[in-house]
Amino acid sequence: MTSFHEVQSICPYCAEGCGFYTQVEQGKASNIEYMKKHPVNEGGLCLKGNAVLDIIYHENRIYSPLAKKDGNTFDNISWDEAINAIVSNFKKILKKHGPGSLAFLTSARCTNEENYLFQKLARIIGTNNVDCTSFYEGNLNIVDFSTSFGSACATNPLSDLANSECILISGSNFTDNHPIVSHWVFEAKSRGARIIYIDHRVPSSLLICDHFLQVNPGTQAVLIDGMIIHILEKNLYNKQFIEERTSGFEVLQKSLRKQSLKQVEKISGIPVAKIKEVAEIYASSSTSAIIHCTDFNPQHGNSKGTTNPANLALLCGHIGRTGTGIFPLLEHNNAQGSYDMGVSPHLLPGRAGVKDDIQQKKIAKLWHIKNLPSKGGLSFPEMTKALKRHRIKALYIMESNPLEEHAHADQLKHALKGLEFLLVQDNFLTETAKQADIVLPAVSWAEKTGTYTNTERRVQLQPRIINPQQHTIPNWQVMCDIAKKLGFKKQFSFSNTENILKEITKAVPAYTGISATRVKRTEGIIWPCPTPKHPGTSILYTEHFHTPDGLGKLSPVFYEKKAEKPTQKYPFRLTFGKAPTFYSAAITHLEIKSSTPASSELFVEINPKDAKKINIQNQSEVKISTRLGNVKATACITEKVLPGVVFIPFLPASNNGKILSSVDPRAKIPELNAATCQVKGSGGKQGD
Ligand code: SF4
Repeated sequence: MTSFHEVQSICPYCAEGCGFYTQVEQGKASNIEYMKKHPVNEGGLCLKGNAVLDIIYHENRIYSPLAKKDGNTFDNISWDEAINAIVSNFKKILKKHGPGSLAFLTSARCTNEENYLFQKLARIIGTNNVDCTSFYEGNLNIVDFSTSFGSACATNPLSDLANSECILISGSNFTDNHPIVSHWVFEAKSRGARIIYIDHRVPSSLLICDHFLQVNPGTQAVLIDGMIIHILEKNLYNKQFIEERTSGFEVLQKSLRKQSLKQVEKISGIPVAKIKEVAEIYASSSTSAIIHCTDFNPQHGNSKGTTNPANLALLCGHIGRTGTGIFPLLEHNNAQGSYDMGVSPHLLPGRAGVKDDIQQKKIAKLWHIKNLPSKGGLSFPEMTKALKRHRIKALYIMESNPLEEHAHADQLKHALKGLEFLLVQDNFLTETAKQADIVLPAVSWAEKTGTYTNTERRVQLQPRIINPQQHTIPNWQVMCDIAKKLGFKKQFSFSNTENILKEITKAVPAYTGISATRVKRTEGIIWPCPTPKHPGTSILYTEHFHTPDGLGKLSPVFYEKKAEKPTQKYPFRLTFGKAPTFYSAAITHLEIKSSTPASSELFVEINPKDAKKINIQNQSEVKISTRLGNVKATACITEKVLPGVVFIPFLPASNNGKILSSVDPRAKIPELNAATCQVKGSGGKQGD
């Protein structure tokens, strides 16, 4: 007799957190079935979501712990041998160099329970050197939205976009990269909403927008300032909201007196008349929402990119009501949850600062320890520097592959070689894992139970669908085994992930009312959820903001031109963005590749005028060089990009990581769109 059942599942790829059913036949995940009643996607799944089963039975998965034998080869070892080796190395290094010589790096792909335990292990050992490698996103929201609103997250559920009269989208190829969110935007449009779309590239479908503003790369935030200038000049702002719900109005007003719309036109490339037109639409609509993708992360001239849309929403009172709000579209499936869990060198679980006395004491009591480390830890880019200086002696990496995602992969690879001990836990023998002393096989998403928090703050349960394959053990159990042997038996005696979630609800105030039973519901539960009977909070800031005085804070933002200037040698502005079939982790990239082979090639988009000038043929091989390195790509001649601008998609960074530009000093993530480059064709003219 055939055994068959369906399990409610959450897509493990992006932060939209779409639901579907996994069909299980004879103990194997065999197929997916669309879940029409899921509140995020109503049955739809994008290309990545449809390929979700590929990873589970991938032929390259590893199933046994591995120990480095010599330079590049590994031996299979038992779990006992692996845990003993890990613990003995950690103990030796701790004794010799102290807890600050250890660092912990995880991924926003891991569950809340895994990431909670991961940061707990780091902090119990005595260090805040713990971070997440999802550095193309999110960090700025933490910095800027926390200042503006008191919390760093989306304000409304995605489906609420359907209730907006005006939607302002700033996005890298939004319709292709976010088809599920686009669905809600189209729904709003069909009800008469006006859609303003800002990007430096023409989207593949212009159908979605009523107004398309093709800005110069990296100037979206300045354009928003232009809208604010016009709204202030014409008194189009919401006076009552400003008076009752915000602070900082005069400071913002004063700061913008120094800027003119003509200047904004010059910087952004958008004519003054157009800036005025879209400003009036946004301000005068009764409900306006803002969606922004990763392109608001560090931009040359304005690393406070996400403050500008926050100012705009506050100024017009388009926040705290249905159909309004701000939607930062995070990339990794559990980016929001990872921040909530405190996987950060500066934030504890609950997103309080590591120096926050009250939260420190509360967590220390919960964990049965005297003190938590109070010195801020190292962020991932800072860890890289510390590695180079041999200040970090041991590194534990969980399901993250920085050698294929990091901006300066070659330097990092060299630095990893100087470690006394490198531990990597992953599904595959990735480029990073190949450098490790011990590699632990991780279970895939379908073999573990845990919760994920999507971009709308929706906490959803992913129940185990199939048993862990071969010799794999869930990450949480492995961490508990390591911690217990290190002497933290009391703190890590969890018998299942439900127990871990229970502790999370005590550590993270917004999760207090969440329970294993409540997250099982198809709609999950949206935090803040302060009590076990509380229904969750789908719309934030309806009455007050989460700032100390309860007011939304308008903050001045100053434009400083910091990007490299195009020169004769490097005449093009180099821009990056997501491509729909790529995912930043190499592993997923492999899976997507199997369903869409052609999409795996690195391409560069170049305007026909530029291509003619430097004699580049469509589909020919070209070399893109920056001051940091070079890569080869296939030329794609298209009017999607402006003259003087070239675009390449994010790829596993052995490619574009080499030519990314510097790290933003404030957000500690790579600055996008700040570098200039040269494009040279084989047989063509040089850029110089
Ligand atoms: S939009 Fe994101 S969550 Fe939804 S199916 Fe695609 S990758 Fe998965």
